[in-house]
Amino acid sequence: MKSGNLGYPRIGRNREWKKALEACWAGKLNEEALHAELKAIRLGHLKKQRELGIDIIPVGDFTYYDHILDLSAMFGIIPARFGYKGGAVDLATYFAVARGNREAAASEMTKWFNTNYHYIVPELTGARPVLTGNRLLDAYREAKAELGIEGRPVLVGPYTYLKLAKGYGPEELAGWIDRLLPLYGQVLCELEAEGAEWVQMDEPMLAATSDKGELAQVVRIYETLAKETPKLKLMLQTYFESVDAYETVASLPVHGIGLDFVHDGGRNLTAVRTHGFPADKTLGAGLIDGRAIWRADLKMKLDTLAELGEFVAADRLVVQPSCSLLHVPASVAEETALKPELRGALAFADEKLAELALLAKAGRLGESAVAAELDGAARSRRALAQSPSRNRAQVQAQIASLSSQPDRRADLFEARKEKQRERWNLPLLPTTTIGSFPQTPEVRSARQKWRKGEWSNERYDAFVREQIRRWIGIQTELGLDVLVHGEFERNDMVEFFGEKLEGFAFTANGWVQSYGSRCVKPPIIYGDVELPAPMTVAETVYAQSLTEKPVKGMLTGPITILNWSFVRDDKSREEVAYQIALALRSEVEALEAAGIGMIQVDEPALREGLPLKREQWQAYLDWAVRAFRISTATVQSETQIHTHMCYSEFHDIIDSISALDADVISIETSRSHGELVSSFEAYTYDKGIGLGVYDIHSPRVPNAEEMGAMIDRALRVLDPAQFWINPDCGLKTRKDEETIDSLRNMVQATERAREKY
Ligand code: GLN
Ligand code: ZN
Repeated sequence: MKSGNLGYPRIGRNREWKKALEACWAGKLNEEALHAELKAIRLGHLKKQRELGIDIIPVGDFTYYDHILDLSAMFGIIPARFGYKGGAVDLATYFAVARGNREAAASEMTKWFNTNYHYIVPELTGARPVLTGNRLLDAYREAKAELGIEGRPVLVGPYTYLKLAKGYGPEELAGWIDRLLPLYGQVLCELEAEGAEWVQMDEPMLAATSDKGELAQVVRIYETLAKETPKLKLMLQTYFESVDAYETVASLPVHGIGLDFVHDGGRNLTAVRTHGFPADKTLGAGLIDGRAIWRADLKMKLDTLAELGEFVAADRLVVQPSCSLLHVPASVAEETALKPELRGALAFADEKLAELALLAKAGRLGESAVAAELDGAARSRRALAQSPSRNRAQVQAQIASLSSQPDRRADLFEARKEKQRERWNLPLLPTTTIGSFPQTPEVRSARQKWRKGEWSNERYDAFVREQIRRWIGIQTELGLDVLVHGEFERNDMVEFFGEKLEGFAFTANGWVQSYGSRCVKPPIIYGDVELPAPMTVAETVYAQSLTEKPVKGMLTGPITILNWSFVRDDKSREEVAYQIALALRSEVEALEAAGIGMIQVDEPALREGLPLKREQWQAYLDWAVRAFRISTATVQSETQIHTHMCYSEFHDIIDSISALDADVISIETSRSHGELVSSFEAYTYDKGIGLGVYDIHSPRVPNAEEMGAMIDRALRVLDPAQFWINPDCGLKTRKDEETIDSLRNMVQATERAREKY
């Protein structure tokens, strides 16, 4: 029995990867130095995995930005607007596709399945795929030459790659498979010729489909590849859910099948029990949760392993994480400041790999060989379960009486609309922003000084107030209608709240990649959630004191806090969501009591929580919507509740979005090139709505004409009386000048539109 890994976090223990990339983008690190730096990081990760006793180490999972973009680059699938002329994709072009440049807007970026990772969407329109290199071969050779590691190259398979791409219709899938198959074939042939034994082919899309026609294409893909590379063994890897078409998948002509036995709702195990597992294949048993951070119940894992052993010979079993470890931080080693009962119950990437090595050892030598470690793990889990922070009487009483907590506002929207119109008297097409303004180096360094104790609370508060004052001034001068305080006191939209709520803990270094070099440090919800004191009232009230215009209070919603945290595994996500909602409700009430009449409760991560399988969507949406409503239901009708979402796939959850009953919603649009707008052709959305009129992910400053076109497009299907003008998302990642210039153009576009409509 072997232990295997599916992918290692790229960013490095101390985000060395991020720092190197950003230094390069800032012109402070030349290309050569970047390559050297990233190579050192990459080799370090391989060595680490070997040290931890992992038998099967992935290579090629490392990237300079995103693994889907890597494939696109390898296939020469680069949109024409980047001036790509064929051949190897240079670094500047590669980064331009990801981030945009002066001439061209970046490619769309979207959520990787139901995770908080974002990949760059391949654009197939006009593409003529050719192999521009073989990065898997390079990675394989490097690991062997530099470290003597016989790595297992990993790449996303043709089916998943194409399903994630855009720019073609469903009837063209087969044609695109025909175009890509020879390239995949060539990549694999070269690996085979080089002596690679196994290749890990990720097809997570198989956990999200049961379409017969598409499955036939999958069969065709793997039959073709098997013929071309008879000696190479493919590990067909699925993750994030159970495989619906288990029998089809299990009988594909590959040498191994990787299944997720953690996030599968028990269905993969049931499938193995029911249909067995092919005797000539290796099973990649995804037993250790690749997405959560808790130490595993190893005893239970061994039981599962024993059961799998009834169907699969031990030498054909690989114990592995449920998915790539990309979704968890690198190591618990540095988390010395956490309470011992919490720290003891955590396992990040390195600790998970150690667990895997342990499971494999137990599989080879028997449980008694690891008895001490099993005991230790069980003791750690028990210590956390018994901690008082897990059991707050007050919170549990509220949850027990949940059915008596209000979850709808006193008036229906129609009535609230009138009252709000009277109270606010806003112009047609009111302008606003999503909340944050640039987190400049100055803002970040102030926060660091305060955190380190170099600055007193007073000094830091004064600094934050100064920023608020400055930006209230700028917003006033720009002529925006609804202002924000700018979120200068916030590091991150979830961490900030988590730090003020009971039941949350924070790691020193628990970073995970969100997109490109952007990393997030998710809080850990380990106890019952409670609000000890108001979190945002002081800054918001200060901002409001500086202007006659309304200032929106700014909160992160319960579902986003949930979905962007690592959540305890002893309670349902639904219950934890209600706990957060009740705490936020107190904050909303406090803001209202302090005179704040517009309150935005952001839910950018609502969609992220959608289960992969359609049939489970509604149950999730129902409790998610209820949690949002619990947090916003108790305000007066005149108080305007806003919400914000930063994605544009909307049509399929539009009923639930509407059921949130927010008076105004702002949504990202520009990166999906207006696809969102078409959602409203068929659906009458009656509440206030702002479809972002410019992309904030790129430093590019769009002009008023461009934004005007976005407005026109939206107003073809939406009523000007309900429409708001705003950027796609918060502006914290932008620079001051870009922000001001873009907002000036946005206001200008609005003024022109007001004359037209
Ligand atoms: N209010 C937040 C901000 O402006 C919203 C961010 C988000 O949606 N991700 O930064
Ligand atoms: Zn957003």
